[in-house]
Amino acid sequence: MHEVSLVQGLMEQVRNIARNNRASEIIRIKVLIGPFSGVVIDSFEFAFDALKQDDALFRQCMLEIQAPGPVFQCRKCGAKTAGQGRQANTVDQPGSAVFSWLSHETACPECGEKALTPSGGDEILLMQVEME
Ligand SMILES: [Zn+2]
Repeated sequence: MHEVSLVQGLMEQVRNIARNNRASEIIRIKVLIGPFSGVVIDSFEFAFDALKQDDALFRQCMLEIQAPGPVFQCRKCGAKTAGQGRQANTVDQPGSAVFSWLSHETACPECGEKALTPSGGDEILLMQVEME
């Protein structure tokens, strides 16, 4: 489960912010997880809930995740379309989320082309930290 190391990285980032602000408790963090990041949201939340128990700084912390859906760009006419389908949460290899989005058949609404390229959205971004 690579989500555990991603969560550890995120917590380390927040820990540095807390140190710089002399905060003793993190109240809430907001994270944006792109649809092509390969992150399984359920596993990410599970890892966070497990790791925060052992950490006084995070014990009361709420995790808010924004997970926008995928966007595909048509290779023929360039039109962008929001992808259908949903993220699989049963497979936890890196990249499995990408595969499950792509395996869903999405055709271009403008020209009907089926060769669509996933457009952007592979980021994991710390959006906001609330602390005391
Ligand atoms: Zn098209």
